[in-house]
Amino acid sequence: MAFVSMTHLLKDAEKNGYAVGQFNINGLIWAQAILRTAERLKSPVIIASSDRIVDYLGGFKTIAQMVDALMKEMNITIPVVLHLDHGQTVERCIAAVDAGYSSVMYDGSHLPIEENIRNTKKVADYAHAKFVSVEAEVGSVGGMEDGLVGGIKYADLHECVRLVEETQIDALAAALGSVHGKYQGEPVLGFDEMQAIRAAIDIPLVLHGASGIPLAQLKKAIAYGHAKININTECNLAWRQALQETMEENLEVFEPRALLLPSITAIERVVEEKMTEFGSTNRLAQHVE
Ligand SMILES: [Zn+2]
Repeated sequence: MAFVSMTHLLKDAEKNGYAVGQFNINGLIWAQAILRTAERLKSPVIIASSDRIVDYLGGFKTIAQMVDALMKEMNITIPVVLHLDHGQTVERCIAAVDAGYSSVMYDGSHLPIEENIRNTKKVADYAHAKFVSVEAEVGSVGGMEDGLVGGIKYADLHECVRLVEETQIDALAAALGSVHGKYQGEPVLGFDEMQAIRAAIDIPLVLHGASGIPLAQLKKAIAYGHAKININTECNLAWRQALQETMEENLEVFEPRALLLPSITAIERVVEEKMTEFGSTNRLAQHVE
């Protein structure tokens, strides 16, 4: 499969002051919308499946082969990472690697730090032997997404340092006040804590729950070392709104394609807006050897 690991993409992003977007898929049309937009904007992209909906989507192999086949059919030339988001167990991360994913996140953030480190290291050792990149998490992102529920808990600086040093992961999700799903009121990120973590570790940071964070805060997060920003909710909100409007305006129509096409365009609009905000457009030359 032609997927790339996210390691080099994130290093380039970090060096040049932009971020690569991770966009979660919820079926074929999401993958098509994300790939088409990334190719048009010449932007590297991370396509992710949330572990909690992998079985609903048909399993790891189905997802990997679907995205791979789409890339060939669509003549995709930009670098594409296929990433497992919030991998729940070591075994599931390994299954994703074996199915062809080029990047996995192991989420042991709810476990005591010793156990989080132990499991993350098992994933990293297995994944790195196959040139697959690894992300792990410290602290807790609030809210709810794809059945994952959490309260906000800021990442502890020393735990971040230990996790990075002892597991050799490629990117760190340090929870600093962001929320999965919809925000209630203005989000407030912990920029002081972010700066301290940034100074203490030398791998790129990942911002989870970025849907709904104002642009000024996103730009600041990028300046403080966030080279990967995850978007899921905003695509789904746009998809739902477009689908609802189309159905209400076309009460007699039952052809799925006709009803779904405007919702695909809605997803594409969000992906374009985010890639533009993150500064990842027109980066193709930097990644083609
Ligand atoms: Zn997340």
